[in-house]
Amino acid sequence: MPTIAKGYAATDASKPLSPFTFERRDPNPEDVVIEIKYVGICHTDIHSARNEWKNAVYPMVPGHEIAGVVTAVGSEVRKFKVGDRVGVGCFVDSCVGCASRDLDNEQYMPGLVLTYNAVEADGKTATQGGYSDHIVVKEGYVLSIPDNLPLDAAAPLLCAGVTLYSPLRHWHAGPGKKVAIIGMGGLGHMGVKLGSAMGADITVLSQSLSKKEDGLKLGAKEYYATSDATTFEKLARSFDLVLCTVSAEIDWNAYLNLLKVDGTMVLLGVPEHAIPVHAFSLIPARRSLAGSLIGSIKETQEMLDFCGKHRIVSEIEKIKIQEVNEAFDRVLKSDVRYRFVIDMASLA
Ligand code: ZN
Repeated sequence: MPTIAKGYAATDASKPLSPFTFERRDPNPEDVVIEIKYVGICHTDIHSARNEWKNAVYPMVPGHEIAGVVTAVGSEVRKFKVGDRVGVGCFVDSCVGCASRDLDNEQYMPGLVLTYNAVEADGKTATQGGYSDHIVVKEGYVLSIPDNLPLDAAAPLLCAGVTLYSPLRHWHAGPGKKVAIIGMGGLGHMGVKLGSAMGADITVLSQSLSKKEDGLKLGAKEYYATSDATTFEKLARSFDLVLCTVSAEIDWNAYLNLLKVDGTMVLLGVPEHAIPVHAFSLIPARRSLAGSLIGSIKETQEMLDFCGKHRIVSEIEKIKIQEVNEAFDRVLKSDVRYRFVIDMASLA
């Protein structure tokens, strides 16, 4: 028998999220049933709920930074048992219909099944996310949350954490590497924590210096305001890696000029318009402009274990589900330090 889930859903691009009841599938032998304790609010939730990427299917229960506790497991589940502290991130299946499975890069496979606003492997059931009381997920897409990390502040690791961890690892952030993080928000502050724990020399590039104290406290060596034109002169050709966490229109050529020879700038946010890049921003220093999307399940678990070892979690502001619409508006104004997490006990 399917179970009835309670949550909050978007029913239309222009309406606020509201209480919603729906069915979760009866667990298959390889499924894990999770009682959701906390869910982070990611900017993607807002883009999706408000149909800004023109692919919304309603009703939609957002939420892909899920932390909770296992309440039941199917007969074939081996890795998890009732009571385990677990997480679910941005996808709940992958390689559905793909010719080849690549578990190191499954987030880039065309058969990726997103945690919400997508269709399950059965080809008909809509996936619904974490702004709800429970979720049923295939064992292979469930992550273990280390015992020493609080569930509420660990929830944002499932998207924001791995979104920064993956490019930091892929481009070898570590001792002797100079890394700049553009933007000191939900993503950026995780980059500061993770990158400095990896031993890299981290610089934050933010519009203003209003969060400078936080940035330095969380591990950044330096903090510059991008509204100050001298920043770009001072830091020209300084960095091995520049991670762009913002989706605003920025002066791409000015930022590319901050890279050393062979340096890479990586896009993590999605600007609305195409990016105007001059060839002379790349050619004279063999620079690269790249993109990166979350991380594989294997890498997400590696990130959580790394966070356990280094006691890294997100800086959060906890809210009740009834406050979600107000929180969306505050995220858009960057009025949160640094991630909203919904306490799902408030749903009852
Ligand atoms: Zn996200």
